[in-house]
Amino acid sequence: MDVNDVELVMSAVDPKQYPTTGYPEIGFLGRSNVGKSSLTNVLINRKDYAHTSGQPGKTQTLNFYRVNDALYFVDVPGYGYAKVSKSEREKWAQMIETYLTQREQLRGVVNLIDGRHAPSDYDIQMRDWLDYYGIPVLYVATKVDKIPKSKRKKQEQILRKGLELEDDEPLVMFSAKTKVGADQVWDWIEQQIKS
Ligand code: GDP
Repeated sequence: MDVNDVELVMSAVDPKQYPTTGYPEIGFLGRSNVGKSSLTNVLINRKDYAHTSGQPGKTQTLNFYRVNDALYFVDVPGYGYAKVSKSEREKWAQMIETYLTQREQLRGVVNLIDGRHAPSDYDIQMRDWLDYYGIPVLYVATKVDKIPKSKRKKQEQILRKGLELEDDEPLVMFSAKTKVGADQVWDWIEQQIKS
């Protein structure tokens, strides 16, 4: 997709604040520092548009970015991570769960994991949870430029195995630095938003 117009239209904590235009939505999920803003910036072809980077303790919101007049990218804050009280964390988990399980316009979720390591317990928990709700997911392994080329295939297998991905569940090896994988991510998104 040729992106020529991007706008942050809403930072929402409550479903009442979600946009009402009806465009399809793609959620982006991943814990702070995994490379979510970098991926988004590559996809929308901007240098520094989405900068969500986690300030621990800061109120987390669902950020709706309108992309052309075609769809929304929804930045979903990763959970289980920020240094917040238990009650705040529960409220936060509730907000994310409400969005992911009840939002009609949501067509799929891009779930980011750090490509350099084996999946963490957190990654595996998220995988099980998304699987349980039957949400279409694209797994994106980030920062793969940091893995020597000769080891990337092997690392991909480690990630697939650790996450117990089925053959028909896509995983893209991505780098914001070299942009490898960006086209595959867009292809998946375009597939999901086709009605
Ligand atoms: P976010 O908190 O998930 O939005 O993460 P950011 O996109 O802000 O990235 C966190 C850090 O990882 C920054 O220092 C980025 O420059 C770095 N980073 C993100 N993606 C890549 C990548 O593909 N390759 C490399 N080498 N570094 C990356």
